[in-house]
Amino acid sequence: MASIDLHFHSHASDGALPPAEVIARAAERQATLVALTDHDCTSGLAEAAATAFSLGVDFLNGVEISVTWNVRHTVHIVGLGIDPAHPALAEGLAGIRAGRVNRARDMAASLAKAGITGAFEGAMAVCDNPEMIGRTHFARHLVNSGQVKDVRTVFRKYLTPGKPGYVPHEWAALADAVGWIRAAGGIAVIAHPGRYDLSWTLKDRLILDFKDAGGQAIEVASGSHGLDDLHRYALVSERYGLLASAGSDFHAPNESGRDVGRTDDLPAICKPVWEALNERIIRAPRAAGI
Ligand code: AMP
Ligand code: MN
Ligand code: MN
Ligand code: MN
Repeated sequence: MASIDLHFHSHASDGALPPAEVIARAAERQATLVALTDHDCTSGLAEAAATAFSLGVDFLNGVEISVTWNVRHTVHIVGLGIDPAHPALAEGLAGIRAGRVNRARDMAASLAKAGITGAFEGAMAVCDNPEMIGRTHFARHLVNSGQVKDVRTVFRKYLTPGKPGYVPHEWAALADAVGWIRAAGGIAVIAHPGRYDLSWTLKDRLILDFKDAGGQAIEVASGSHGLDDLHRYALVSERYGLLASAGSDFHAPNESGRDVGRTDDLPAICKPVWEALNERIIRAPRAAGI
């Protein structure tokens, strides 16, 4: 396992832990380089960077942008090494967040028709950052209130396309998301490619569109990837000339497949994205003797 984790969440978006706690958890698991990548927001980065610095962990500012590609497909683009204060990025992310509360009201109305009432208030109560309200908060509320046994089951029964609580939403355009990341000095990464329900013809088009927009990397090691995906996307990164990234996509203890702070080693054919981010890494002093 590598001691690098460039994709995980805090309660600034839909993670369960505050930024300082998720970084401390990564440090306990001997992480040496991490990036916090909350969905569509950067408000946890300052606390995360300060904690990483104090615990001797190198840090990259990150974000995971929600994108609608090819009319109806949701894909996630991670930005690594960004300057969160860059106006194009900050304004772009603010625009995405602006749609979330109305979407959540529509989701609650849709769930109410399926017999589940009070979901908006319930989801808001477990959401630290109201403008970042999303499906995970609805899922946690339904589990906490004893209505569904676990988060996975809520998604399967209510929160995925075609199910009663699912509301289609238009996120950012792919070229915009990649453009904001680049403008902010970062590298754009296709997140968890193994998770998208797309044919290979469409995945090929997604990767080519992403490269045309200026995208440079793809997640090869991911909490959403099994060993088959690890090797499959290592080959994809080589074939398309993309740098390779590694991230757990950790959200919460007992909820995520992988814990934070460690990821599978990248296969040898990969070119690690962090080697291209050297000058963006916020380096922490190491404790003496380590
Ligand atoms: P949203 O941005 O509000 O659509 O929420 C998307 C988030 O829901 C993802 O980032 C995941 O954290 C979570 N999610 C999506 N699909 C699933 C699933 N099948 N099981 C558990 N969590 C999921
Ligand atoms: Mn999430
Ligand atoms: Mn994602
Ligand atoms: Mn994620």
